[in-house]
Amino acid sequence: MAYPLADLKLAPDTLERQLLATWKHERLFEKTQEAVRYGPPFVFYEGPPTANGRPGIHHVFARTIKDLVCRYHTMLGQAVTRIAGWDTHGLPVEIEVEKTLGISGKKQIEAYGVEKFNALCRENVFMYKTDWESLSERIGYWLDYAHPYITYTNEYIESVWWLLKRLHEKALLYRGHKVLPYCPRCGTALSSHELALGYEEVQTNSVYVTFPLAADPKRQLVIWTTTPWTLLANVAVAVHPDLEYGEYEVHGMRYIVATARAGDLHVAGAPLAEAPRVAGYHGRDLVGLKYVRPLEVVPLPQEGQRAIVVAGGFVSAEEGTGLVHMAPAFGADDYAVAQQYGLAFVNPVAPDGTFQDTRWTELNGLLVTAKETNRLIIDRLKHEGRWLETRPHTHAYPFCWRCDSALIYYARTSWFVRTTAVKARMLEVNAQVRWHPPEVGSGRFGEWLENNVDWALSRDRYWGTPLNVWQCERETEHREVLGSYAELAERWGRPLPTDFDAHKPGIDGYHWPCRECGGTMRRVPEVIDAWFDSGAMPYAQWHYPFEHQADFKGHFPADFICEGVDQTRGWFYSLLAIGVTAFDALVYKNVIVNEHVLDAQGQKMSKSRGNVVNPWQVIEEVGADAVRLFLLGQSQVGVRKRFDRQQIPKVAGGFLNTLRNTYEFFAWYVGDWTSASGAPPVAERPLTDRWVLARLDEVVAAVRAA
Ligand SMILES: [Zn+2]
Ligand SMILES: [Zn+2]
Repeated sequence: MAYPLADLKLAPDTLERQLLATWKHERLFEKTQEAVRYGPPFVFYEGPPTANGRPGIHHVFARTIKDLVCRYHTMLGQAVTRIAGWDTHGLPVEIEVEKTLGISGKKQIEAYGVEKFNALCRENVFMYKTDWESLSERIGYWLDYAHPYITYTNEYIESVWWLLKRLHEKALLYRGHKVLPYCPRCGTALSSHELALGYEEVQTNSVYVTFPLAADPKRQLVIWTTTPWTLLANVAVAVHPDLEYGEYEVHGMRYIVATARAGDLHVAGAPLAEAPRVAGYHGRDLVGLKYVRPLEVVPLPQEGQRAIVVAGGFVSAEEGTGLVHMAPAFGADDYAVAQQYGLAFVNPVAPDGTFQDTRWTELNGLLVTAKETNRLIIDRLKHEGRWLETRPHTHAYPFCWRCDSALIYYARTSWFVRTTAVKARMLEVNAQVRWHPPEVGSGRFGEWLENNVDWALSRDRYWGTPLNVWQCERETEHREVLGSYAELAERWGRPLPTDFDAHKPGIDGYHWPCRECGGTMRRVPEVIDAWFDSGAMPYAQWHYPFEHQADFKGHFPADFICEGVDQTRGWFYSLLAIGVTAFDALVYKNVIVNEHVLDAQGQKMSKSRGNVVNPWQVIEEVGADAVRLFLLGQSQVGVRKRFDRQQIPKVAGGFLNTLRNTYEFFAWYVGDWTSASGAPPVAERPLTDRWVLARLDEVVAAVRAA
């Protein structure tokens, strides 16, 4: 039988599909896995995608790099682990289901029924699984899709519980009160790494507002705010104790601002600095003064100081007026000052981000971040003679990375992982990681770790790993953190049902008498951050420590991971944070970070711009080899890449044409030869053949040395 030649006249797409079919028929992937099974291990962790969106061209990029590295190590005879994984919990899934049902927000989900809702989430997760698998196969990304880890399975969740219990035992899990970035639409707090994913430049109306001193209303403190809605909850004004302040007179009224800022705001059409300066102070001289609050429409509680000037080291003269209005429910600095000074605490905003129970009925029910709301507030400030100037202000503002809603800072109770306790250790561990490009590790990621804050772990949502904390109804300090289903059954006093499902709402039905006081132990309502799930994959993919202990040990840490630069604060962080908090261990040794793929003009690809490249379409046009080669060869992986269809032949064509010509040469001379007939000993071959083999050896040596 003659050597089976490929027909080069066929389009690349057709040719490649024929080859893929042959590979599949030969079970080539499985064979390569079997061939290296006992080779030295090369551990790769697949960062789990969420399969409820279609894969894009940037996924092709990351998957091409992953495949290249794993394929290379397989060719070296190493046993490469290539377990596929799916990230299945969390808001992206909930939001899709909300859209499908035509509902929005937690109230409507609860009215619909959490059990039915979560059942739909479970189905929705794999809406595009086939797309992911077939695209991966089409681009030749070899991964074991037959045995993936899936974060929603009972086994996976049990491992996550075990990890959380371990953190609890190390006193690294706690319930705290913090002002957190909060999405009013999703009704949940965001962790700081999620926050970092969603900043956008926006223009908002900032206002200069006057706070007359209680003892002499002609003397007025001037504050500046970019969020006028927070004024309703104002209880204090902060000044920097060492900063210089001036009092300026205009038409018989006196305005107090930081001297350095007096040129920046206008009173009666002229910069305040041009008005006569009638007095000067240091900030500390102002501390303790009482003033008249603006917008008296929210009843304050009896206890706590209010309408008072306080000192704050965070105040600067870089923008605004050097006087900062304090609303403890809506700012981290504000909250800290409130603790320090015993300020009154008031929060007129419901968890859905709307005003509630104010005396200003028109405002009740309005979303605080809506432009209309802020317009109403500014109008009222003007009407009450408290307004000096409105100024458009361009600044980076955080938006929900999932649903695009403007976030607010909002005081919540939340569960935290005390990552700050191991910050120094995380930095040490990170220093052992080989980052490519190196500046991501030392720069972006290293700085992120330097500024570490505790991980806000809990989410007030439905579809996620339920937080495994049970609390006594009588005394919340009577608390148990369960680390396995066996423990759950033991507490509950019966074996778990055969169809046990760890999710809400079923899991909330498990309760038992408190050992300390006889009250009822109930699970806290929260689920956890899905980033904790994905960061737990080194353990949970093996159902560690309940099963496969040897497999876990043989596959920890990873030799190699590779994801996009947006994972710096996502998966790269959650892997490392869990590794250090739970095991004091290095989780990955080498990381390749690929940059974003932009469109041909250098614009970010987005559905709204309509410039998203459909990977299937390009592959059909030029073939997967050309696309892969283009993505790898166009520039360094750590550089932003422009995906220009026209550039593909220029980048990939040279090599592929040489390969094609070489193959044609081979086809011309192949004659009756088959691979079974073998090759003559090297010493008997013509000189040119031997030269080619020598060159090949040089190339192999150069690649291995690189
Ligand atoms: Zn949101
Ligand atoms: Zn109790």
